[in-house]
Amino acid sequence: MPGDAGGADKLRSVPPGQDVDMEGQGEILRIEERPTPGTRDLIIDPTTNLITDENFQSLPEPYRVGRYGYSPNKVALTFDDGPDPTWTPKILDVLKREQAPAAFFHDRTTGDKFSSIVERAYREGHEIGNHTFTHPDISNVSSTYVKVELNLTERLFASRLGIRTVLFRPPYSIDEEPDTADQVRPLEITQDQGFTTVGTKLTPATGAAIRTVRRNRSSLTCWDTCRHACQTISAAATSSCCMMAGATALKPCGHCRELLMVCGLADSR
Ligand SMILES: [Zn+2]
Repeated sequence: MPGDAGGADKLRSVPPGQDVDMEGQGEILRIEERPTPGTRDLIIDPTTNLITDENFQSLPEPYRVGRYGYSPNKVALTFDDGPDPTWTPKILDVLKREQAPAAFFHDRTTGDKFSSIVERAYREGHEIGNHTFTHPDISNVSSTYVKVELNLTERLFASRLGIRTVLFRPPYSIDEEPDTADQVRPLEITQDQGFTTVGTKLTPATGAAIRTVRRNRSSLTCWDTCRHACQTISAAATSSCCMMAGATALKPCGHCRELLMVCGLADSR
């Protein structure tokens, strides 16, 4: 404010913006650098008291997030929000037959209700991940709330499976590509608690995702519900590198079939 005696000092520090510097490729997200403010010296005209120039001593730095896990010619299958009593057992049957490991991210709602399916997934060698307890948007809740969500889910796994998981997938869009500081900030909490955060850049809800999987260049995330599960399995089955060849035994529903036809992955019969 003009005339503020301490104004120049207040302007010396330049807060970092909301942007995020993403580096690397893959779905494993790790915060490499946390935001730091920049500092500058201000040149003030003594007669007018106006700022006439500035010299930066250091620039403000945003979050730097490293992406890891990219591996050419490999597809990682991950499933969120299940288990679904109808589809997850069928998915597990296919994965078992093809000896293809996957990762399942559960929250409390279905993870507790259908815990026998969770136990089966774990027993058959799949990874079990934390997807929070009540599935909130963690960029909109307090850090205490996030910690409670993580802790309760861990206690659920401990009571049901006798394990503690290290994988965490945040609910909602922040897992896709956290592109603002507000979206990255809650991941500081999960990282500080020892979790490895797994993103969701590709989902089977788009033809582009299926085409990308077909080119064998990425991982794929889906949900244990009819529509998405059969898309995923069909996409994986048509991927030449995937171990799940033959997985089309699960017939895609009409919606998925239409999508696969659009992508050229199913005929029009
Ligand atoms: Zn979810």
